[in-house]
Amino acid sequence: MSAPTLAVDRLTHRYGEWIALDGVSFEVEAGELFGLLGPNGSGKTTLVKVLATLLHPTGGSAAIAGRDVVRDRGEVRRRIGVVFQQPGLDLQLTPRENLRHQGHLYGMRGEELSARIELQLERMGTAGRADDRVKTLSGGLRRRVELAKGLLHDPAVLLLDEPTVGLDPGGRRELWDHLADLRADSGATSLVATHLMEEAERCDRIGILDRGRLVALGSPDELKRAIRGDVVALDSADPRGLAAAVEDRFGLEAVVVDGAVRLEIEDGAAFVPRLAEAFPGRIDSITVGKPTLEDVFVHETGRPFEERTAGRGRPEREPEVEEEPGAPATPVEGLLP
Ligand code: ADP
Repeated sequence: MSAPTLAVDRLTHRYGEWIALDGVSFEVEAGELFGLLGPNGSGKTTLVKVLATLLHPTGGSAAIAGRDVVRDRGEVRRRIGVVFQQPGLDLQLTPRENLRHQGHLYGMRGEELSARIELQLERMGTAGRADDRVKTLSGGLRRRVELAKGLLHDPAVLLLDEPTVGLDPGGRRELWDHLADLRADSGATSLVATHLMEEAERCDRIGILDRGRLVALGSPDELKRAIRGDVVALDSADPRGLAAAVEDRFGLEAVVVDGAVRLEIEDGAAFVPRLAEAFPGRIDSITVGKPTLEDVFVHETGRPFEERTAGRGRPEREPEVEEEPGAPATPVEGLLP
């Protein structure tokens, strides 16, 4: 058996006393589009930084193409492409020039570089814009140029940290279409961090992060199927009282999430009349639906995906803890914001 393309094993990272990653383990196989789904503050960026060799984890390990991200940092850097939230293109240059510059950073020259640039430009579908300055391109097209840049040296894994931040829904869809095409056409392996359910839905498999812990791992369908039946949500003036009453009466687990009572039941539609009959005047509305990824998150954590109040009372960015010291002289640095 060949080693997985990406392997994360009991990975832990602390910023001072704060545990940002807490024993996370998963693997990504070659050719997979893997999503890391989690609300803000769940540890996605920390994990991507560790994989990109920009942050030393405080525990556990991670490897890309069999190379350890700490011990074999240079080797790993040659095997990854990274796209961060912040734009990493020179706006004054054209896409072609940006790619050429990137190629030089990776020590590529001449014919080989030209051929790779052409291939990426073609894959990217820049519609004849390859020689226009990046500053004249749409946000969606710019992000595609960044993907092309990340892929230029043919990395084993492309790491993307919330790559659609700042794009409109059309641009987001386009970028995901492009990621799916990349996988289909060239077998690219990608790990994409996102806090958007609809993006996670487009991945082959996802890992759901919550407060630094991996709470679910599998294909979106598998994860949703693990919740048997339907999810029923009840609006009420007294959600807590109603949840307790539902539990008492029907012996079901009912949790209050985002001000609504939420329960999982085999046949939601058949259950609605029984609820209405049991609690006359106490229910304002009833919604029955098939489980979504948000339901998977609630099922695993008992909390809504994005909490309206500030989580565990975490102070805003505690004293900044130094990241990887020193200025790494490897090309990946050139991709950093
Ligand atoms: P996400 O990308 O999912 O939003 P992050 O990895 O950025 O999550 O952050 C995880 C947790 O670690 C958050 O609570 C965040 O405030 C904290 N954190 C991130 N970077 C630092 C840092 N440099 N110093 C201290 N705490 C940090």
